[in-house]
Amino acid sequence: MSSRRLVVLGATGSVGQSTLDVVRRHPTRLSIHALSARRNVEGLLAACREFRPALVAIADASRAAELERGLRAAGLPTRVLAGPGAVSEIAAAPEADLVMAAIVGAAGLAPVLAAVGAGKRVLMANKEPLVMAGRLLLAEATAAGATLIPIDSEHNAIFQCLPDGSRCGTAVAGVRRLLLTASGGPFRDLPLKDLKSVTPEQAVQHPNWVMGPKISVDSATMMNKGLELIEAHYLFGMPSDRLEVVLHPQSVIHSLVEYVDGSTLAQLGQPDMRVPIAHALAAPERWESGVSGLSLADIGRLDFRPVDPARFPALAIARGALDAGGAMPNVLNAANEIAVEAFLDRRIGFTRIAGLIGDVLESAARESLPKGETLAEILEIDHWARVCATAALDHPARAVGHA
Ligand code: NDP
Repeated sequence: MSSRRLVVLGATGSVGQSTLDVVRRHPTRLSIHALSARRNVEGLLAACREFRPALVAIADASRAAELERGLRAAGLPTRVLAGPGAVSEIAAAPEADLVMAAIVGAAGLAPVLAAVGAGKRVLMANKEPLVMAGRLLLAEATAAGATLIPIDSEHNAIFQCLPDGSRCGTAVAGVRRLLLTASGGPFRDLPLKDLKSVTPEQAVQHPNWVMGPKISVDSATMMNKGLELIEAHYLFGMPSDRLEVVLHPQSVIHSLVEYVDGSTLAQLGQPDMRVPIAHALAAPERWESGVSGLSLADIGRLDFRPVDPARFPALAIARGALDAGGAMPNVLNAANEIAVEAFLDRRIGFTRIAGLIGDVLESAARESLPKGETLAEILEIDHWARVCATAALDHPARAVGHA
């Protein structure tokens, strides 16, 4: 097999760095064609020195000159492209076979659409574009002959438990339910009364995974699992009532597929993103990821329990948005991004995050928003929800579920 050429979007982030670590282990099988980041020049330069890509895109154009100087000083011929459009341009680069979508948040939507439109094999870590625009993304992928491979550990686990040849967007016959596991994050056992006063530093300390700040806060509120329900709905063509969440503190089982004959298949492994990344890069082969196997005797036991709705109100809010359909998942995503940013900036408390999202969804239900069938409609809904959520930041606090 000839070497696969890869574009890594969000190369300086947690998933981006894990991707580069897998690539580093397979110099004859994988090469880097292009990298992108928002503004982290140092991180991009380090990756360029090691992987010598042809192109590098920096979304914050004010950092382009510094990047250019660094590349010339290192004697590298890498071409610099700048601005948000540049990220989409490298995502569709004709020389690349694979695109790792590892930007965080809605900023990844345009680049993912560009990669899909160019018919790439797209490794989807960036879950927010699927939540905002799942139907459109899947339709564009079908039209352009693009393939989506789930990277989120839960969805990659499900994908591994589905029959060979399964394609994202198409329901698999014989599947009764999909079960997503949730670790419960850093506050799963904290007394409920203490949730109000947790800090951003505590919220980003995930007990099992090392991740970027936004997804770490999403894991602490369990909105991450809510976004994942919506992601699973689109990726696997499953209705909400056949998607379940179970709390599994050890994060050893990454998710499960229950078939109609009563068989349940699970994928197990260390909580390390290099496992799903290597799976997607190598498929249909299997390559070393740098992650060891499990010692089941050391793990000893695996625990499961239902999710406590009073502790994690965000999960029911997200399921409500999925059930309502139309613009609501997109509204949910935008409101969550604003709320998480405000929490990280210490403008609102932890328990206000879910309340604020609930308020924005209630307002959205009273508006006549478009359904989100075209990109223009999706961007209009996203903008409306951000304006609404930003205004709600200054309203009297309403925290749900933690009385
Ligand atoms: P990080 O915050 O660690 O990294 C985000 C990356 O995106 C950085 O390279 C950042 O560049 C870049 N970026 C941020 N904003 C923009 C923008 N406006 N335009 C272009 N690039 C931008 O995030 P994670 O790696 O944790 O997460 C990435 C995605 O993968 C998320 O959607 C997350 O939900 C998903 N995911 C992550 C997992 C994990 O283990 N981390 C697990 C499963 C899914 P810069 O460094 O310059 O800011």
